[in-house]
Amino acid sequence: MSQRQRMGNQPMIVLSEDSQRTSGKDAQTMNITAGKAVAEATRTTLGPKGMDKMLVDSSGSVVVTNDGVTILKEMDIDHPAANMIVEVSETQEDEVGDGTTSAVVIAGELLDQAEELIDQDIHPTTLAQGYRQAAEEAKNILTEESIDVSQDDRETLIQIASTAMTGKGAESARDQLADLVVDAVTAVADDDDIDTDNVAVEKVVGGSIDNSELVEGVIIDKERVSDNMPFAVEDADVALFDDGIEVAETEIDAEVNVTDPDQLQQFIDQEEQQLRELVDELVDVGADVVFADGGIDDMAQHYLAQEGILAIRRAKSDDLRRLARATNGSVVSDLSDLSEADLGFAGSVAQKDVGGDERIFVEDVDDARAVTLILRGGTEHVVDEVERAIEDSLGVVRTTLEDGKVLPGGGAPETELALQLRDFADSVGGREQLAVEAFADALEVIPRTLAENAGLDPIDSLVDLRSRHDADEIGAGLDAYSGDVIDMDEEGVVEPLRVKTQAIESATEAAVMILRIDDVIAAGELKGGGTDDDDEPAGGPGGPGGPGGAGGMGGMGGMGGAM
Ligand code: ADP
Ligand code: MG
Repeated sequence: MSQRQRMGNQPMIVLSEDSQRTSGKDAQTMNITAGKAVAEATRTTLGPKGMDKMLVDSSGSVVVTNDGVTILKEMDIDHPAANMIVEVSETQEDEVGDGTTSAVVIAGELLDQAEELIDQDIHPTTLAQGYRQAAEEAKNILTEESIDVSQDDRETLIQIASTAMTGKGAESARDQLADLVVDAVTAVADDDDIDTDNVAVEKVVGGSIDNSELVEGVIIDKERVSDNMPFAVEDADVALFDDGIEVAETEIDAEVNVTDPDQLQQFIDQEEQQLRELVDELVDVGADVVFADGGIDDMAQHYLAQEGILAIRRAKSDDLRRLARATNGSVVSDLSDLSEADLGFAGSVAQKDVGGDERIFVEDVDDARAVTLILRGGTEHVVDEVERAIEDSLGVVRTTLEDGKVLPGGGAPETELALQLRDFADSVGGREQLAVEAFADALEVIPRTLAENAGLDPIDSLVDLRSRHDADEIGAGLDAYSGDVIDMDEEGVVEPLRVKTQAIESATEAAVMILRIDDVIAAGELKGGGTDDDDEPAGGPGGPGGPGGAGGMGGMGGMGGAM
């Protein structure tokens, strides 16, 4: 349709020719289907027995992973509603670092349950209200059921670190890695303020995972700038400089005309003099090692080597920040301002070989507030996946130290919630009651999926779980290895409270947002997307020209096929 203006009481057409519009029930169906398809794509990876996915991007590079958020990021999803579900996993990753698959799977199930109620003519607004009430109540219940953990309860922290790594590439060395993770996070914690960016992860291909280690200090992926400098310095006073040791370049392109050789020599002498002065600033305060953000002039290198100073150039600003934390020094931006108080201290600064690469190790510091985990693994894909497992694990230990509250895992909290929410639904009444009940049913997708992925009968497992929770065993969860329902707390399968509350919160928000949409107006073609990963053939109930109608939206039919 072109932009024609009609007179009288005829409608005015304001959309451009390329726009597409889907309204009412069609829009809802399209969005719900897209959201569900995303959840479906990650579902089989959930839990200790979840499978991995191999993702190949358009340039052919391969990622093998079990990590929900990584799968969705790599999937190149275009559909706007599907992207809202992807955001759920991203929020979860930012807030807690773990539980990304669970959050998305819950969101998908909330949409699935909603679809049935919409079919029974329950208004989406009523649904949204019921879902929000249920989510609020769920958070209260979880908080009430949570167990307090003190910051020095090392055993529980290790269990938490270990649970987050279950079923990932790190599995074989889980106990040892959990130990390293807890050491790392406790080392960088400043009371309740914990920034896991201060735990650097250095990946090394070669060796096995159980050769991984924690260095209490910083490792810089650089070499000393000149071969004439020492390889290692003990009891080092370290200067951190966020500029280069070079002759200051003039702002404007100046042309220097020299008329006789003496003048040229004078010019060179002057430059050398400047460099000498910069190096003398370092010598005067007693620096043994210098990390510079910029370059280091050849002549300066020569002077530094003469003074026995170990110098590293082009250190990243992030590395400088970590070095400052680890050595308790300060980064200066002008060498003439450098004082002894700015120098950091490390018992050892040394260039060492790690898996065939030279690195600078800064360690033996007084109070390592920045540490480095050296992760080893047989191949690049292995170390990459171990790193992702470690990131989750760092996140849950940090969260636990911050909040001090944990819950049993293995589907225990979701089963307990479902039970208590069904009671709560009676008190809600009206049509919202149906929504609260649907919410309760939706949460059971977690134990159900854990059972399915472990090759167990999901109905049997759920029945078993429900009866144990009916008997007030709030810690009863599914042991994915034996298939038995056991006390997860005793088994040491524990997760931070926030993993669960955040998952419920973001999943509810996204589901509600999608449900409330009844009109999709897209400028240009609306792409299907998100089906790259489905293992069933495309072309489901919708099919091209199905609910979406127009060509671009027909892609959604493909998603329907994967349901
Ligand atoms: P997410 O991305 O949601 O963290 P995971 O694949 O890590 O997905 O699976 C997490 C789920 O696995 C949680 O519900 C957790 O309680 C459960 N889980 C972890 N370890 C065990 C175990 N040993 N037995 C049963 N369930 C477990
Ligand atoms: Mg996890």
